[in-house]
Formats: sequence, structure tokens, C-alpha cells
Amino acid sequence: MKKLTEYIDGREAEMLAFLEKVVNIDSGTHDKAGVDAVGELLSGRLRQLGFQVERSPQTQYGDHLVARKLGKGSRRILFVGHMDTVFPAGTAARRPFRIEGGRAYGPGVLDMKGGDVSLLYALEALKETGSRFYGEVSMTVIFNSDEEVLSPTSKTIIEAEAKRADSACVFEPARPGGEYVARRKGVGKYYLTVHGRAAHAGAQPEAGRSAVGELAHKIIAIHGLTDFGTGTTLNVGLVKGGERSNVVAETAYAEIDLRVPDIGEAARVDARMREIAGSSTVPDTTAELSGGLDFPPMVETPASRKLLEAVQAAGRQLGLDLKGILTGGGSDGNHTSQHTPTVDGMGPKGSETHSDREFIEVATLAERTKVTALFLDLWPTVIETLDR
Ligand SMILES: [Zn+2]
Repeated sequence: MKKLTEYIDGREAEMLAFLEKVVNIDSGTHDKAGVDAVGELLSGRLRQLGFQVERSPQTQYGDHLVARKLGKGSRRILFVGHMDTVFPAGTAARRPFRIEGGRAYGPGVLDMKGGDVSLLYALEALKETGSRFYGEVSMTVIFNSDEEVLSPTSKTIIEAEAKRADSACVFEPARPGGEYVARRKGVGKYYLTVHGRAAHAGAQPEAGRSAVGELAHKIIAIHGLTDFGTGTTLNVGLVKGGERSNVVAETAYAEIDLRVPDIGEAARVDARMREIAGSSTVPDTTAELSGGLDFPPMVETPASRKLLEAVQAAGRQLGLDLKGILTGGGSDGNHTSQHTPTVDGMGPKGSETHSDREFIEVATLAERTKVTALFLDLWPTVIETLDR
């Protein structure tokens, strides 16, 4: 243990310098050149760690990286991080990486370049200190480029690797209290189009059937499905409708975000959504509903609980009391957990993700890296107990 933690302490300054480099390259999901440049940097590190790095070429998004290192034993582990951020090109030039008052700021520093960098240094520590884990376990690292748009092109790659793995670790940030992620809600998106009948709002208003009016009723009904008790929430986050104020609106459109704690709630809400779309308050209007669940819920299993307990045991060696919680945000952990026990939220701690105030607590970069390294050092033993 001492060898690992001392090694990481000795690398802290270099880890921050590497994070600075990665953060200062803009890599918004739609900025392919930027994401590929980040991929180039991360690939270099993975090769130094002894990985074979494959690029999965993409046209619309940056190329995904799939890096593999074969171990002598039969065990396999999967690590997942994303390279894309929600920030457009030019953001890093406007507000580059900076450290102030124990916090590091910059686009994607928390979500999730901090986690990506932490993983690389945890692996380096295991390699350089001669951990049994590093020689025996077959590892796959996936750095994908489209997580912030729900992983449309990387989902199948992640799932295929998850199916072969004994467990998966996802390096999304820790929750603001430093918690790991034990469960994630399922995430869905719906698209609702309402059709009415246009008419002159002054000359013949009675001939019109307002799609905007009908959509208003539907929005109230949809928001009525939110239940903070169960954790099911719906948000009509975008609406469009009508052409101008003196025309009764012929069409109206809404996009709806859905979060559910389990698959049963997803089915219940889906049925209710279809009822709302199929019935109307403004006569003669019709509606079409499409969409559904994009990210299945990440649920806790006995195996994932055991793995989280091993993370907690690693934390106790460092004097940390680590917890696992439920969160509403989706991640690739939602996908891996359908196929293999997953621990998520392994990245450093911080807050205000997806905003210009996003930060990590600098001290937690090395701290989480140590927890990861100690956990992985224990991993072969933990995995053996899962089989029994
Ligand atoms: Zn993320």
C-alpha cells in the first residue's frame, strides 16, 4: 500500500500538468478535431503503459479509443472514460485551466478529464510498483467521444467489452460530497408533435384548432407524472409552436427528458405518455409521440455492492469514509452495468459540472487515484470471492 500511495504522491505535480494539457484542448462533442487531439495525447500515455491502442474511426464525432493489454491470468476488467465535453471550440482559450484556492477550473476538468487522467496515473502506479494486478489482469480502456450526446456510436463498443469483463470501472466525477455512484437513474428522451388547424385569429378564430393550446394541456399532464418520492422526473425542456400571433397555431412541438429509478417506472411512464399523446383536450387535435429510454437504469447487484465495499475498504486504508449513492445523471455506467458489475463516479471530486464554474478539488485528484490504485490492487482477490 505504502509503495502505491508514495508513488502517486510523487507524481501529483506531473498529473496536474498533464491534466492542464488535456483541459486546454477543447473537445466539445461536435469538435471532432479537438476530441481527436485529446485522443492523441491519451493514446500516447496508454502506449507507454503497455497497451495496444485501436482507434474506432468516426465521421461525425471524434474517434473512440479502445486500448487493450493482455494479462497472464483469465480475469478481465473494463475502464471507461469519455473525452468529449459540452463546451464549444474557443472555450479553453477564453478560460484556460487555472488553480485557485485549492480548486482547478477549466472546461471538462471535472466531467471528465480529471477522471481520465486519474485512471492513467493509477495504472501507472500499479505498473511501476509491480502490482500483481498489472501482470495478471487483462485490461480494456475505452475513451469514447460521444458520451455527452448519450453515446450513440460508442454504446455497442462499450457493451461488447462489458460482456467480456468481470467488472467495470467508470471514471465519471465523484458526486459533490465525494460519493461514488452505486446506482443511476434510467434516462429517456421523448419528442411530441401536436397537429391542429390553422385559422385567422381575428377573422375566423372558431375555425382554428390550436396546437399550442393543446400542447399546453399536455405539458401540464406530463409534468404531473413527476414523483419525487419514487425518483421519477419529467421535464419538458424545449417547446416550439405556431408561426405568428395572428394565426391559430397549426403545429407545436416539445422535447421531454425522463429520469426513472427502475425499468418498471420506465414502462409505467411510457404507457402514460402514450395516453397523454393519444387523448386531446382541444378537439380535433392529434399528436405523435416518439422516443423512449436511451440509458437503462444502473441498478445495484450483490456483485456491484461487493466491489463498492472493496473501494470503501481501499478508502479506509487512506482514512477516508467513502459512500455510494443514487444519482439522476446518466453515464456509460448505465450501459456497462447491464452486463457486468460496475462502480462509477471514480473520478475526482468537484461540482458545477456543465457550467463555466465547473471545478475539481485539487487534493482529490491524487486522493482518488490512490483509492483506485489500492482498489485495483485488491481486485483479483475480490473478484475471486464473487464467484463463490
Ligand atoms: Zn461525463
